Amino acid sequence: MNPRFLKYSEINEKNFNKTSIERAHTLTVDKLYETEKHVAYAVRDPFKGTEHVVIYKSEKEPPLDWTCDCKWYTTRTINTGKYCAHILAVHLKRKQ
Ligand SMILES: [Zn+2]
Repeated sequence: MNPRFLKYSEINEKNFNKTSIERAHTLTVDKLYETEKHVAYAVRDPFKGTEHVVIYKSEKEPPLDWTCDCKWYTTRTINTGKYCAHILAVHLKRKQ
């Protein structure tokens, strides 16, 4: 199953929060599991020691087909469509 990944150019065009993009580069991403409809990733901040789970849900409409369990997601992404650093990290590091 192939998640809907944004290209680097799209990440720049969509005017996401600059701080979120910068922070995304410092996070580590590990794939947790994949099902027929979902792909889940653990996104860790090696400096803060925090971890969030990002899940791609193919049955949902963009941009909310990407979800995260962080506070930014529930307060900002759902209202503005602007992804948190954790989701952006999965997009930026998908080839690793
Ligand atoms: Zn998040």
